[in-house]
Amino acid sequence: MTRILVVEDEPDLQRVLDYNLRQGGHEVSVTRLGLEGIKLAREQRPDLVLLDLMLPDMPGTEVCKQLKEHPATRGTPVIMLTAKGEEIDRVVGFELGADDYVVKPFSVRELLLRIQAILRRGRPEDDELEPMVEFGRLKIDRGAHRIWVEGVEIELTALEFKLLVTLYDRRNRVQTRSALLDDVWGIQADITTRTVDTHVKRLREKLEAARDYVETVRGVGYRFVATPEEAATA
Ligand code: CA
Repeated sequence: MTRILVVEDEPDLQRVLDYNLRQGGHEVSVTRLGLEGIKLAREQRPDLVLLDLMLPDMPGTEVCKQLKEHPATRGTPVIMLTAKGEEIDRVVGFELGADDYVVKPFSVRELLLRIQAILRRGRPEDDELEPMVEFGRLKIDRGAHRIWVEGVEIELTALEFKLLVTLYDRRNRVQTRSALLDDVWGIQADITTRTVDTHVKRLREKLEAARDYVETVRGVGYRFVATPEEAATA
């Protein structure tokens, strides 16, 4: 399930987007205000933001800039919704870090395809093409199932390794305990969400200097940080 945040002040377009995105199997949050959009994006960590350029309280470009500056939302793709004649040049230049843009009036079908394309880019499958991963103090060799922290190899069980890679592949996105249970342990598992906590705790202990890369999101689950620097300042 992916969550999409829609920041758009035209009621008709809000409704059309909300309806069609839900039909497409996405969870949707909608706001008409830029400031509220920034707040929701930080709280909800959506997989993608649709952002109107002209909002009542602040320009969409400023919203985009703030999203791309904040560690919690820096990695979140943004598609700008622009009207003809608006500051398209700046958006097209992707000067603000927007990932794509569409010009109103647009076909909803086309927008959905663009959304799919961007969501696919961020998928773990893409990462798997690169078996060696370096992330701050952490190095992962997916093929060999080995990891190193500050150059020292760490022994992980197969399950811990899978847990780590699952979290890593979804960095910057909160993973609920039940999602982790499904994806790491599988459906046959006769265990409770408590088990997830126990394993994450053990994994973090083993990660030592890289332990802060795995964050607890109180009452929700766990999240692998977006960048090593984010953990360093935490
Ligand atoms: Ca508008």
